[in-house]
Amino acid sequence: MSLDPRRGVLWQAMRLGPEWIRRHADGGVGAAAAEEARAEPAAGSAVPVAQRSASIGAMDWNELEAAVAGCTACGLCQTRTQTVFGVGSRTAPWLIIGEAPGAEEDARGEPFVGQAGRLLDNMLAAAGSSRQADAAHPVYIANVLKCRPPGNRNPQPEEVEACSPFLLRQIELVQPRLVLVMGRFAAQSVLHTDAPISALRGRVQRIGVGGREVPAIVTYHPAYLLRSLADKAKAWADLCLALDVEAGSAGER
Ligand code: URA
Repeated sequence: MSLDPRRGVLWQAMRLGPEWIRRHADGGVGAAAAEEARAEPAAGSAVPVAQRSASIGAMDWNELEAAVAGCTACGLCQTRTQTVFGVGSRTAPWLIIGEAPGAEEDARGEPFVGQAGRLLDNMLAAAGSSRQADAAHPVYIANVLKCRPPGNRNPQPEEVEACSPFLLRQIELVQPRLVLVMGRFAAQSVLHTDAPISALRGRVQRIGVGGREVPAIVTYHPAYLLRSLADKAKAWADLCLALDVEAGSAGER
């Protein structure tokens, strides 16, 4: 794939950071919807994991959003301000997976709205994409965890296990052509591996969802890139690989 010179210019914007893009408001769920949420088993409930996963796996968007808003399946429900479901086009060609909401996301109910989110928006703009659902090349953004871990601590395995069916269903419903996984934690969670990010990025991974395999590209988390400017070039290479894969011009590496 040849690089559009505009992308180079936009890429420069990734260094600037403060480019704000109007958010698409298809993310939040209000208190009323939360009340209507399907009854989710509380932490420690006897509802078998497989039964809960099957139930979530059959939900439509409205049911899923309400189930997330009312979820009490792990202890994070006690400390969250609100759940953070996802944002963007529900028919987007790219689905982007982050780790978990931080303080700003917990307050606003939308993924990636802090400083790392602004960098993500600039990275997406450089690749000709946007979280705005009506964009020419929209994305859908969701996290592995829908609730903020207190103090931004690392997610615990039982929290990931409880939340995974929601993300899986989001991937099934969006049916993306490509999944972009941001950061070590998200990559290890969705690819079920302990491998370091250096071993995961730079080639096409596969995620099996709903009987089909979706190509996945692993890249650095924007919060990491804010601290490690030298790796921005590698993140750009990852985005270019993602564009090539979507265009069908990248083979297995
Ligand atoms: N980091 C993430 O991984 N997700 C967010 O929504 C915000 C920060």
